[in-house]
Amino acid sequence: MIRVDAVAVRIPSLTSTSGPAERVALLRERLAAMAAPTALSCDLSLARFTSFQIGGSADLFFDPPSLEILAAAFAAAHDLAVPVTCLGGGTNVLVSDAGVRGLVVRLGKAFEFIRWTEVDYATADVEAGASTRFIRLAKDSASRGFQGLEFAAGIPGSVGGAAQMNAGAFGGEISQSLTSLVVVSRCGEIVEKSREELQFSYRKLALEAGDMIACLRFRLTRSSVGRLQQEVARVQDKRRRNQPVGYPNAGSIFKNPPGEYAGRLIEKAGLKGRIEGGALVSPEHANFIVNVGSATARDVRKLMSLVQEEVWSRCGVWLEPEVRFIGEWDEAEAAVS
Ligand SMILES: Cc1cc2nc3c(=O)[nH]c(=O)nc-3n(C[C@H](O)[C@H](O)[C@H](O)COP(=O)(O)OP(=O)(O)OC[C@H]3O[C@@H](n4cnc5c(N)ncnc54)[C@H](O)[C@@H]3O)c2cc1C
Repeated sequence: MIRVDAVAVRIPSLTSTSGPAERVALLRERLAAMAAPTALSCDLSLARFTSFQIGGSADLFFDPPSLEILAAAFAAAHDLAVPVTCLGGGTNVLVSDAGVRGLVVRLGKAFEFIRWTEVDYATADVEAGASTRFIRLAKDSASRGFQGLEFAAGIPGSVGGAAQMNAGAFGGEISQSLTSLVVVSRCGEIVEKSREELQFSYRKLALEAGDMIACLRFRLTRSSVGRLQQEVARVQDKRRRNQPVGYPNAGSIFKNPPGEYAGRLIEKAGLKGRIEGGALVSPEHANFIVNVGSATARDVRKLMSLVQEEVWSRCGVWLEPEVRFIGEWDEAEAAVS
């Protein structure tokens, strides 16, 4: 019989020869001391946190209970040289089948809020926690009679992810009404960045590598509630009619090339309905790849590569992925990009 007090519990300590697994184990100890046990998971499958419903496991998965603990977690990961990956609503990512090494941080309830301050009759400032759903913020703004975010009434995912992607539709982009971001830097500093300091371009925000957005501030202007709500309904109706429903996907898989639509080129190349494993080029909207069965990340990436090559050879345009690749990819998979 083994006496419990005689069993050595191995608590790793960092040495110059500590490998990635030891560093992750040590980070796990540190995070466990910062938050309730439910905030931290090991080897957690990420498939259920992505709209594609695809992806392997994260070594460590953390849902920080406050901004201060988020910052402390980043500082600890930096100190231990453990890589950190930010995940939002998971609606624009393809997570590899092998999963994500190190720490995945996904902001939850503690970062889900909307706070309004009316500056004057015509103007309001709104602050949103990064995990707030973009659609919720768009609808809330419209119902209070403040314009600037109606375009987002059909964009799934979080506002934090939307800022990182400079998400947009129907001529609107999140960067247009944003005034500042509160970010946690790679080494755990909490910094506010004004709009002037941020560089947005098409579906991209150039943040420092490893920065995580915790909170966003917008300035919106007053308009008619009825008109804004009509616009929200129009945007949602247009999406319902144009986008494939029923199968998991990550929205537009490729960026639109300048002056063109990726979907039009894919359709022109005769690729609608092309299938690879469980991944299908949607017959309804060619720039959507849908998971029709148990598609793997490799299936999706292979299909993306095939689409890129066919569109290149038939139309002379190289399509750039809009979806972000997350996690560990082997050489054959990574060649597909
Ligand atoms: C059906 C459907 C329709 C869509 N329509 C549109 C559309 O019209 N327009 C459009 O622009 N997009 C569209 N998308 C794509 C997607 O919804 C947006 O890009 C969305 O804003 C991504 O937000 P997310 O929270 O899901 O981010 P995720 O997919 O989780 O992450 C996207 C990227 O942002 C990073 N990230 C996430 N959160 C943070 C954070 N807090 N701090 C720092 N980095 C972070 C991730 O590391 C990743 O690189 C659509 C997707 C779907 C499934």
